[in-house]
Amino acid sequence: MKYQSFLIKYAEIGLKGKNRYKFEDTLVSRVKNALSAWGSVFRVYKEQERIYVDSDVDFSDYYDEVVDKLKKVFGVYTICPIRKVDFTTDYKNLSKEVISFVDDIYGERNFTFKVKTRRINKTFPMHSDDISADLGGDILERFKNTTVDVHNPEVTIFIEIRNHINIYSEKVKGPGGLPVGTSGKAMLLLSGGIDSPVAGYMVAKRGVVIDAIYFHAPPYTSDRAKQKVIDLAKIVSEYSGRVKLHIINFTDIQLKIYEMCPHDELTIIMRRYMMRIAEAIAKKEECLALITGESIGQVASQTVESLMATNEVASIPVFRPLIGFDKEEIINISKKIGAFDTSILPYEDCCTIFVAKHPVTKPKLSHIYKSEEKLKEIIDELVSKAIETEEIVLC
Ligand code: ATP
Ligand code: MG
Repeated sequence: MKYQSFLIKYAEIGLKGKNRYKFEDTLVSRVKNALSAWGSVFRVYKEQERIYVDSDVDFSDYYDEVVDKLKKVFGVYTICPIRKVDFTTDYKNLSKEVISFVDDIYGERNFTFKVKTRRINKTFPMHSDDISADLGGDILERFKNTTVDVHNPEVTIFIEIRNHINIYSEKVKGPGGLPVGTSGKAMLLLSGGIDSPVAGYMVAKRGVVIDAIYFHAPPYTSDRAKQKVIDLAKIVSEYSGRVKLHIINFTDIQLKIYEMCPHDELTIIMRRYMMRIAEAIAKKEECLALITGESIGQVASQTVESLMATNEVASIPVFRPLIGFDKEEIINISKKIGAFDTSILPYEDCCTIFVAKHPVTKPKLSHIYKSEEKLKEIIDELVSKAIETEEIVLC
């Protein structure tokens, strides 16, 4: 058994003062959730500003899968697979454990190394630098293919002497951020595109629980398009935890707007109705903000003037985490989080079907008000019906 445990380090949580224990407890529960597929194989707990994932069974066969899951837990800064040994005050015992660790992980490989020791438990009778120097000597003697390089080693062997001793040499980077559940809840407007799943990922990364809302227009949009959005919500949920997806039938509203309003204003007016409905459902679900994947200037509906016109109907904050990103930067994140291949599947979106050839890029609110005025007899009823007939999918 190469490793029995993981040591999880967190970064920003450390700055949270009196609320710190809440952040730590949320992170512990997020890590437990991430590993729930393995039942009681792992014990997750906090101790001395660290989180440990221990196991009594050999998990080498699914080690990579476990690390992949941990890499998706926001709040995790680094994941260190460790050998955890009982505290000893006897240098010989410590050296034996370290030699056995190096043997199991590196065998007779050829590498440069250094040993770095932290002695938190001061009852160990040697100083950190002396422990590192002596262990370095023991390793050199036992593994003839190794060389010490204190400046730029290929391998650093970390020894942490606490109430037990942690031995490790690998640090896997976690996603950073804050544990989901520490920053309230927001409603993501999730389309089938590239941007909105990335926007959801980024807000969840700051600890926010995500609900999502998708507007579809059957029969103009297909079941496959809907399934694609469900799949995207599932991808976001791998990071954010469970996503409650609200699916809204937008067909009647879209047809009415198409029939009654100038076609160059279609997208803006549709967007305004999406925002109104999203806000109504957000309030019902106790979401404190909306999230969109908009980025300045990407398309006609995302000029500053258009964003202003869309934003105007919302009374709660609208988070647009991609606002200053280029498409290429968004695509890179989309690929990193595993959403890209799903996002580019070529299914229609309701906004691309009812679209004008020449949409306004600088909508005037006074014109939009006039156009919306034409809808007033019927639209409230259609909006209520759309909200009442929502379909909910837990992703
Ligand atoms: P995306 O890649 O997220 O679809 P996009 O570049 O295609 O974005 P638009 O279609 O203009 O941009 O949409 C802007 C934002 O409006 C989206 O990021 C999303 O938050 C929201 N949105 C658009 N269409 C829908 C929809 N059918 N359901 C829910 N939200 C939507
Ligand atoms: Mg889109």
